[in-house]
Amino acid sequence: MPKAQETVLEINLKALKHNFEHLKSKLKPDTKFLAVVKAFAYGSDASKIAIYLQNLNVNYFAVAYINEGIALREAGITQPILVLHPQTVNFKLLIEHCLEPSIYNIKILNEFINIASAQNQSNYPIHIKFNTGLNRLGFSEKDVSNVVSKLKSTKTVKVKSIFSHLAASEDLNEKEFTLYQIDTFKHIAKKFIDLIGYKPIMHMCNTSGILNYPEAHFDMVRSGIGLYGFGNSKKENQNLKPIGTLKTVISQIHTITKGDSVGYNRSFKSNGLLKTATLPIGHADGIGRQYGNGKGFVTINGQKAPIIGNVCMDMIMVNITNIDCKEGDEVIIFGENPTAENLASQVHTISYELITSISQRVKRIFVS
Ligand SMILES: *Cc1c(COP(=O)(O)O)cnc(C)c1O
Repeated sequence: MPKAQETVLEINLKALKHNFEHLKSKLKPDTKFLAVVKAFAYGSDASKIAIYLQNLNVNYFAVAYINEGIALREAGITQPILVLHPQTVNFKLLIEHCLEPSIYNIKILNEFINIASAQNQSNYPIHIKFNTGLNRLGFSEKDVSNVVSKLKSTKTVKVKSIFSHLAASEDLNEKEFTLYQIDTFKHIAKKFIDLIGYKPIMHMCNTSGILNYPEAHFDMVRSGIGLYGFGNSKKENQNLKPIGTLKTVISQIHTITKGDSVGYNRSFKSNGLLKTATLPIGHADGIGRQYGNGKGFVTINGQKAPIIGNVCMDMIMVNITNIDCKEGDEVIIFGENPTAENLASQVHTISYELITSISQRVKRIFVS
């Protein structure tokens, strides 16, 4: 790979393939694999990632919002796309693009049926979401008979899947709660299937669920973060490869002396002679202000350079006093080492937040 000459997010499609195959190896051969590509495929590039996964025969895709699903259709995705959190205002567009809604309450079930029947749809695929403890979206167990009678009263829609979402699949201290969620989902599914008279696809596991709860794989699993290279534990991370490497370059080097300050509000003041490098990446690119003032760091020629002073919109300054480097040299923000998870942990957040924050201004480059 040529050295970076500007800020770039390098995306390694071989690593994506490795992660996909590793996760698949945890499944029974006939368990379906849904790839979660919401939020630009966790800050990478949803279209490129989805096309690549479609060629690897992924069975399903999921996005959060309808506009994300439309972008995938426009990029040539022909596999089914589940929209996890559709808003009723866009239901006509959803139907026009053959996207499949997650239905989580009676209000949107009724609205969807009305809009779909006005478009003369029949057996339109929908997904019924149940809340088993996350308390975010979903019908509860006591809604089952009501939902099924509504569904039986119409030919407009057909239930393609029923699903739920785990609250703490990565946290083995919460195993008891997770097992309770799995059990609740089984009860709900049994009741639902008995009443409706056919068996939709059942799914519950996200990445950590795939890894920690094989008994809950059911007919399909939904993986996001694992595809992008993080397993939410030291052990699982070893089997996965981060697909993204965020790189930049040194724009300028300054030598400053005792009493000099660096950056806005003079939040860093020097005790002595030191060397700083200014880098073309800032909070508008996804490196939030919480990484400033010594919390975050970058890597230059294999050595750690802490961010000093406040993070600016378009730049950060780092301490390179003991690092042999020059203007134009490549800088690693995160990648294989340190990983996005390592950097995120410096400010008590998680890989998910850091990688999905990398703004669209940062150029994406694909390596395979
Ligand atoms: C985002 C999301 C996932 C993916 O979770 P990961 O932990 O990234 O694998 C799965 N299911 C639902 C409902 C989600 O919102």
